[in-house]
Amino acid sequence: MTSVEQQGAAIEFAGVSKWYGNFRVLRNVSLTIPTGGRVVLCGPSGSGKSTLIRCINQLETYQEGKILVDGTQVDSKLKAIDSVRREVGMVFQSFALFPHLTIIENCMLAPIHVRKMSGRDARAVAMEHLEKVRIENQADKYPTQLSGGQQQRAAIARALCMRPKIMLFDEPTSALDPEMVKEVLDTMVALAADGMTMICVTHEMGFARRVADRVIFMDSGEIVESAPPGEFFDTPRNSRTKAFLGQIL
Ligand code: ADP
Ligand code: MG
Repeated sequence: MTSVEQQGAAIEFAGVSKWYGNFRVLRNVSLTIPTGGRVVLCGPSGSGKSTLIRCINQLETYQEGKILVDGTQVDSKLKAIDSVRREVGMVFQSFALFPHLTIIENCMLAPIHVRKMSGRDARAVAMEHLEKVRIENQADKYPTQLSGGQQQRAAIARALCMRPKIMLFDEPTSALDPEMVKEVLDTMVALAADGMTMICVTHEMGFARRVADRVIFMDSGEIVESAPPGEFFDTPRNSRTKAFLGQIL
């Protein structure tokens, strides 16, 4: 067992800063998420939430500090970035399904091309996950033939087909009609119950209370508050957290 596994850290940020030109979008972010940890990340629009999670699988680079994923340093110079990306699934606000492929083809693509699975195995894995998110009967349809909630569940199934160790969600329910939010959140609750390590950017505070073991509030690129949900909602310490909660609750 390596020292990181002994510590149980799935994701570790140590003093991470990032700039877009002269604009500092992340300020000295430090954060440790243990294996099986479930973090909800919230904060005003533009506070750096998407940037923070996109740094984990190197959709963005960072200039200062260190990010470790399962003990591997995430670094643009490192070839190991491919292995990090294989372990980390990501779900976006906009679903990002390939429109010219059916749902099951969307799910089979990466397992075949990245994991080198046979078509037969990839199909079996895809069906297993489509059943889990309860859209197995939509497998042969194209994304636009599905409702928003079904498309987002398909996107979650697609990510799970790579058997990731960590799942990142970036406002997965923000683009959905209200009546479809619950079916997607229920899927995420089930994933959490299975022990998945998760970071969810969301303003669904009912979900945060139910699922998160830690809620983090970001403002202007900084982690301003980080606490278990009971403490976060009932006795927030920072005035910016209080003001934010006052606006959304
Ligand atoms: P959030 O997800 O919390 O809304 P983002 O991480 O998307 O915030 O963005 C944080 C800040 O960085 C915003 O001010 C945004 O305008 C800026 N930003 C995001 N992406 C870029 C980019 N590619 N180039 C320059 N600025 C960017
Ligand atoms: Mg964002």
